[in-house]
Amino acid sequence: MRFETSRALDAVERRLSIDPLAVGGVIDLVEAARSVDLDGGRPAALLRLGMFVDAVSRQLGDGNVALYAVAERGAMSDTDFTSNERMVLRRWSDDGLIEMLPPGGRTAARVREVAALTGLPVITRTPLPGHPGPVYLTTGAAGGMELALAPSTGSSPRPHPVLGRFWRCPAADCPTFGRQPAAGAGQPPPALPSGAPLCPRHGERLIDAGPRPPATMMAVRIKGTVRARFPLTAARPVVVGRAPDEPGGITIGNWLDDESTRRVSRSHVRLELRDGMVLVTDVSTNGAAVLARTGSSVPPREVDLHRGEPKAMGEWDEVELYPDVTVGRADRPPAAVAKGGAPNSVMADAPTIALRLPKQ
Ligand SMILES: [Zn+2]
Repeated sequence: MRFETSRALDAVERRLSIDPLAVGGVIDLVEAARSVDLDGGRPAALLRLGMFVDAVSRQLGDGNVALYAVAERGAMSDTDFTSNERMVLRRWSDDGLIEMLPPGGRTAARVREVAALTGLPVITRTPLPGHPGPVYLTTGAAGGMELALAPSTGSSPRPHPVLGRFWRCPAADCPTFGRQPAAGAGQPPPALPSGAPLCPRHGERLIDAGPRPPATMMAVRIKGTVRARFPLTAARPVVVGRAPDEPGGITIGNWLDDESTRRVSRSHVRLELRDGMVLVTDVSTNGAAVLARTGSSVPPREVDLHRGEPKAMGEWDEVELYPDVTVGRADRPPAAVAKGGAPNSVMADAPTIALRLPKQ
């Protein structure tokens, strides 16, 4: 049992990240771990985070998407967690897999700040009226937990200028702002309690480490399941198609059935990021359309693309190469969420009884 629990926690660990490009939402780690009503078990269980990972996976049809979890240092000495869980938390914090705030740090406020700055959805159990971006609320309980987007209140604000720079923390070996991220990876947003960018972990004033090119993570979904993720930057457009010749093109031919193989061109659409906006151009011989939505709860409206003419995509829009073959923002659920289990579930091996076990 212990072995299975630690294996399930390892699976959860692989789906934690503070890279905004890698995640599908921002969550208060302790709030999730204390969701006793989901299983009626121990007051706090780290494994419950896995239910949220799986729920976001189902929403996005994405078996690789991670969660941006925020906690406060007190969690590492909270005796409602087992000693093993406290050790795991410390490791996640030291390795920069989660964001750890100083003692007394206000986790809920930081979760909202990260979401507001990045445009990522907040995942919470308590409604957040007035929050400027998307909010997932939990529905159901007792093993059947799902997420539902609260009706959105319009589009996310434009990216804050602070996100246009890389930042470095003066504290030694800072796991949050230590080293510049690799190409194609993002950096967590600084804390801005009074306008000046601070390290959320150390409270130190961050050092400007140069310009950061904007990037948006996109996803190709086939029949609702993500088959490719790719970062879109202003530096280079990306072509998606059956087998594009363009360098850096996204090849999806392997995932297509006979009919869609005939209808998806080798190079089908070109995506580019300009002034923070995703532009899509039909470069195919088969045609493409944008499924336009003004919010999560609005049914999509089909807008045909004119070949060779770029069109701006809204945050909820998807471009359709062929029915059930779409490209859209990786952190926004598609209009048609696929039914069925979470792809690549982290809880598949988790003994549900582990949540109910008395403390060891
Ligand atoms: Zn720091």
